[in-house]
Formats: sequence, structure tokens, C-alpha cells
Amino acid sequence: YPTERIRNFSIIAHVDHGKSTLADRLLEITGTIPKDDKNKQVLDKLQVERERGITVKAQTASLLYNYKEEEYLLNLVDTPGHVDFNYEVARSLSACQGVILLVDANQGVQAQTVANFYLAFEKDLTIIPVLNKIDLPGAQPDVVIQQIKSLFDIEDKDIFRISAKHGTGVEELLKTVIEQIPPPSGSRENIMRTLMIDSAYNQFRGVIALMSVIDGSLKRGDKITSIHSTKVYEVQDVGYMHPDEVPTDALYAGQVGYVLCNIRDSKEAQLGDTYFTPGTKVEALPGFKSSKPMVFGGIYPSDQSEFHNLKLAIEKLTLNDPSVAVHTDNSPVLGQGFRLGYLGLLHMDVFSQRLEQEYNANVISTIPNVPYKVKVHGVKNIKKYGSEVVTILNPIHLPNESIIVEMLEPMVEGKLLFPDDYLGQIMDLVMQSRGEILDQKYIDNKRLLAKVKLPLNEILVDFFDMMKSVTSGYGSFDYEDAGYEVSNLVKLDFLLNSRPVEELSLICHRSRARTIATRVCEKLKDAIPPQLFLISVQGAVGSKILCREDIKPYRKDVLAKCYGGDQSRKNKLLKKQAEGKKQMRKIGRVEIPKDAFVKILRR
Ligand code: GDP
Ligand code: MG
Repeated sequence: YPTERIRNFSIIAHVDHGKSTLADRLLEITGTIPKDDKNKQVLDKLQVERERGITVKAQTASLLYNYKEEEYLLNLVDTPGHVDFNYEVARSLSACQGVILLVDANQGVQAQTVANFYLAFEKDLTIIPVLNKIDLPGAQPDVVIQQIKSLFDIEDKDIFRISAKHGTGVEELLKTVIEQIPPPSGSRENIMRTLMIDSAYNQFRGVIALMSVIDGSLKRGDKITSIHSTKVYEVQDVGYMHPDEVPTDALYAGQVGYVLCNIRDSKEAQLGDTYFTPGTKVEALPGFKSSKPMVFGGIYPSDQSEFHNLKLAIEKLTLNDPSVAVHTDNSPVLGQGFRLGYLGLLHMDVFSQRLEQEYNANVISTIPNVPYKVKVHGVKNIKKYGSEVVTILNPIHLPNESIIVEMLEPMVEGKLLFPDDYLGQIMDLVMQSRGEILDQKYIDNKRLLAKVKLPLNEILVDFFDMMKSVTSGYGSFDYEDAGYEVSNLVKLDFLLNSRPVEELSLICHRSRARTIATRVCEKLKDAIPPQLFLISVQGAVGSKILCREDIKPYRKDVLAKCYGGDQSRKNKLLKKQAEGKKQMRKIGRVEIPKDAFVKILRR
């Protein structure tokens, strides 16, 4: 395919507005998959995607389509809609010249619609606005068109109306993609240059790279190298996604396809890296902006002997999801493990689920926290920590209060979209969450778009669920990083019979400490079984105890049911009790069943 007959585009939208369903119809119309009522989000290939019904990975499919008696090659990227996976969307857009921006005609413009529009707009991509779900009885196309007009300055006549579910208007939309989105600008006459846009690891085949060929061509047997790795590889197989892998002889400028070149070490394959022919001089492609982890959480193997396998699994999975930051960590109770940085809580859940499903890892996840910063004083302390401002990924590592000048917490700037009837509730919620409304405006005669600033930690707790609940499900929220602000933070410790349990320590705002302490103490009381002596469970800030629960003593007499004097039977029962104790973790004198720890640590 000459580049003039190639189109690279993505479908972007808020969660559930129909991206993956539209992708199904496009695959059918182009004969890529047979038409079948059973086709449901076929590009959502991961088990976690199918189970949750959401897209977490951007997926590429190459489609062939006859238009005005010429065959076109269309590379379609289906993207995730949730804010946690915005990084995935931004990355996909770097291989596209245009986007289809879907808006649900029933729900209207939502927070991620706005965020995604700007991602595409800032990259100067051609934007084709589309109203989806016009078949729904509750569809309000006129209202939604007004929203699109006022927010994005797009004319009514340029907005498509389709039903992705039934296929209405989809073929015309495809024709418009060909007419309006420009072909890629590279040329197959130029020296070869490709951008690695995605990769996955396969036990037998090594790294499977998804490459966007910017210039020249790439075929089996070619030697390639990359700016990052500098090693020379031989291309063993190339092909396109149709939607599964189909081998071809070569990939040419403008195409997107998979490349196998026997990369065995996942660290050599970096997303955003430029690959080229050894010996040629090429300029590095812009690559990708690195992502910034918003939430950190511990991951430990359930069984310490699995540590090495967990390490390998994390290395391979982060190849497919490079937005996860990896640090090693260890805990007196849980042993050796990792502290991973994620883009949000959903991202954290999805990543640990993928570890379990795709790599059979059995892991314990600890309470997540946002990265805090502290400013320390004294030349000696600054030297010890390497700088005056120290980032705290794990509350255990918080320096002693006596050397802290001030503590800072990460902030976000968010967009809230909701019907104006709920303004009062939203204002209350933002205030309770220690945030402020910076600005607000109408996007039609009913819906408000408010700009808010909030501490990231508040979003982590329950802001999103509360927002959904106070707006009866009509509100939506999107946010981005807004730096750090000084805050009145404290470290909350939990003590069992006066001994602190490090794994449970957390950092929170002073005004929240008592509520959180009470909640965790109650959970601990339920999770720890009674023992021979009284156990006190306390939550404390420094030496100040905020709450206390007691677990009354109790003795389980294993011999109670054993009548008669058969000593060997008694010994057997006592031995069994002793073995059960091995499953316990000792904190001071208090024994905690291992799975109770898991229960407390899990959210
Ligand atoms: P995504 O999150 O944007 O990928 O959305 P999906 O494609 O997963 O669709 C979300 C839900 O909307 C699914 O239940 C689809 O069946 C439904 N849906 C998608 N398009 C339409 C449409 O045109 N009409 C109707 N009635 N439902 C649709
Ligand atoms: Mg989807």
C-alpha cells in the first residue's frame, strides 16, 4: 500500500460510549471478521477486559477497505476510556493522524470526552466528532450537539450520528475517515525508521513488538538496532494485526504491524524507542512522555519462595504496561516484595489481576498510598537522604518528626461535569474532600463543568464513588497532576499490645486521623482471633492514642472432644494445633493468622 492509501486513526471517548462496539462494526464492514451477532468487543482480548467489560489496553487492527475502486489500508486503534489509562491513549495517538471522537447521545459529553478531545487537539490530529447510540429512546442529540458546539467549537453539520450497536451510519463514517484524515507523511524511499509503540512478552517467541513504520520498509532478514539498546537484531517475522497476527513479507512506511526480532531481555525493549538500520544516521523519533505514578502499593508473594518468579512476572508485564513504576521493598511481616507505582486505583487492581491471571502469581497487595514529600533540615540529614526534599513512597520510611520542616501532599486539578440540580451536593462533597472549586461554566442549559483542585489522596479514598452517588450517577470526573502543596499531615500507627505494626502505618491529614484510626482498629479486632491473653489494638499519632479496641482472651481446648485416655490420639491433636500455629505471624507476642493479615491489608 502506497502511503497515500493508508489511514491511521483511533477511536476515543468516555468509558462505555461505544468505542469497542464501533470497532466491532468496522471489523465486520471491512470483512476482517465475519458478521455475527455474537461479536462483542472483540478487540478486548485480555481476560481482565472481558471480565470487567472495560478496555485497558489500546489494540491495533489493520483493515482493508475498497473505496472508489481502490483498496485502502486502515489501521484502527481501539483505546481505553478510564482516566487511569489516559497514558495508553496518549501513546496510541502518536501513531495516528486522526481520531473518531465518540459521544453517547444519551449521556452526552462527559469528563473523559473533554480530556480525550484535548489529547487529540494538542497533537493537531483531525477530529471526526460522532454521536453514538442514536437508537436509544432516551437519546438527546440536540442537547449533546449543543454541548459539543460550546465546548469544542464544532459545527452541527460536521457531527456524525450513528448506532455502533446496529451499524447505522457506520459505513458513511468509514468513508469520511478516508476522505478527511490525511495519510501518514513518511515515505518508503527514505532511510528506515520505526517507532516501537507497544510490546508484549511471549515465553517462546520473546518480545513481540508493535511498530509504527515511519520511513522506509522492514522485512524478514533485515538487521535492525535501536537508539536505546544499541544491540543488533535480525528481523525474524513481520506482519499486521487482522485482528490476530498475519505474517507478510514486509512492512512499509505508514504501516503499523508486529515485529519479531528475538529480543529476549524485556529490558531491551523500550516503548517509544526508535529502531533503524545499523550504520545509517537517523534522527530519534519524539517517543513518549513518561507517565507519572499517582499511587503506590506493596506487592508481596504469598509465599516467599515465589519471590523470584514474581520478579520475572513483573518484569514481563511491565513490558506490556510501562506506566507501572517498580521499586523493591521489604517488610518484617511479609518478607521481600515490591512497591509499585500506578496511575490510579483501577490501574492497580487491573495490574495485580493480570499478574494473577496471565502469570499465575499469587500476591498480597498492601494498603495503597499517594507519594508524599517531606522537607528535612540540617546538613547531615540532607546528606543522609540525598536531598532536602524527600519523596516517601512507603509510610514506613517517613523520617523522624524532629527533623521534618514541613510535609507536602500531591494535588490534582480535576474537571467535574454534572447536571446543575446537583451543584449543592457537589460543593459539599468538594469541601468535605478538602478541595475547592476554581471555576464553573454551563456547557448547555443544564449541565455544569466545574474546575476543581483536590488532594490526590481524597480521590484515592472514595471521591469517585461519592461523586457518582451524590449525582445519582449523572456526574463524571477526570483529573490530572497539579504538583505538591504543604499540608498538615500525620503518620498514623497501629499497635498490638503496645507494639507498632509497621505494615499498617499510614500517612493522612490530621483532620482525618481519628476516623481512619477507628475504622482500621475495628477491622483489626474482627480479623485477629482471640488468644490466651488480652490483646489491645490501638491507633496512635506519635505518643497520642486515638482509639482502642480489646480482643478478649479465649482458650481453645483441642482435647475437649477427646474422651477416654488414648494418649496417641491426644498427641496427634496437639501436634495438629502446633502446625496450625506455624501459619501464624508473630507480632510481639500476638499471633495473627496470615490470611487475617491479607484481609486487613486488602482494601
Ligand atoms: P467502550 O467502553 O467505549 O469501549 O464501550 P463498549 O463498546 O464496551 O460499549 C459499552 C456499552 O454500550 C455496551 O453494552 C454496548 O453494547 C453499548 N453500546 C455501544 N454502542 C451502542 C449503540 O449504538 N446503541 C446502543 N443501544 N448501545 C450501544
Ligand atoms: Mg472499550
